[in-house]
Amino acid sequence: MGPKTTLATPTESKDGIDYLTSIPFFVIHALALAAIFTPFKWWYPLLALGSYYVRMFGITGGFHRYFSHRGYKTSRVFQFFLAFLGEMSAQKGVLWWAAHHRDHHKYSDQPEDIHSPLQRGVWWAHAGWVLSSRYDQLKEDRITDFTKYPELMWLNKYHLVPPTLFGAVLFALGGWPVLCWGLFVSTVFLWHGTFTINSLSHVFGSTRYRTTDTSKNNFALALITMGEGWHNNHHFYQSTANNGFFWWEVDATYYVIKALSWVGIVWDVRTPPKHIRDSYLEPEVVTPQVDNAVSTAVAIAAVKPPTPATVLPAA
Ligand SMILES: [Zn+2]
Ligand SMILES: [Zn+2]
Repeated sequence: MGPKTTLATPTESKDGIDYLTSIPFFVIHALALAAIFTPFKWWYPLLALGSYYVRMFGITGGFHRYFSHRGYKTSRVFQFFLAFLGEMSAQKGVLWWAAHHRDHHKYSDQPEDIHSPLQRGVWWAHAGWVLSSRYDQLKEDRITDFTKYPELMWLNKYHLVPPTLFGAVLFALGGWPVLCWGLFVSTVFLWHGTFTINSLSHVFGSTRYRTTDTSKNNFALALITMGEGWHNNHHFYQSTANNGFFWWEVDATYYVIKALSWVGIVWDVRTPPKHIRDSYLEPEVVTPQVDNAVSTAVAIAAVKPPTPATVLPAA
């Protein structure tokens, strides 16, 4: 061990990327690059794109809006399907993911927030924290509403099963090229697409609502993440099935959830009450400095009543 370094924040102590356990992460990037040397067919990129958005829904509609925030209800069978679909994106276990995400909202941009770009920089918020073994443990007490399901606990423990099976099916269907584009190329984009919400959407974009964090609304990020780019909306009012609060805020995840509700697969789809949705922060209002993490409820109570004239489309 070298001499001790003085660190800027408490969370930085004995912490960092574990390069040994991160080898698969880098190997999969290399396998994705191997697509350049693979005989090309026009539909391979389409396959990668399809694989990207279907699995992205597993993350956004499943891991995030269902398991983390309970924005809607569904059956035990479809709940398992959502967990499986999300895990096909190789972002560790469903309960691990959702428990950490609940903490992100609880401590947004405070020292306890393990992926805050404000606290630890954009690269750490983007991928560094995922590659650190320090956060591998499932925080069961954060997600007791789902740990009672043994099938979810099993899936959470054996989270490599879904992506491995997915890869095996792709290989059986079309050999190496289909595996390369459908899994490796697609997964690399899927990882970085998802990670932008922890990194870039706390840096770039507009702020509609007064929150106690740096969350932003960002149209481009909403397109690549099926609506998660409306992150300032989401931090303001979390427990909804939609993150785009207005019709012009493209939110593909919500459209899929809505369609699933029409055929009875999901129900009790939650959206923000109108008076909360319309409670904009007026540009001239000076936001008081908030020193400690406070709940969204406090932020909601602090905002002004609806003022439709100030409604501005977020860029
Ligand atoms: Zn969230
Ligand atoms: Zn956030």
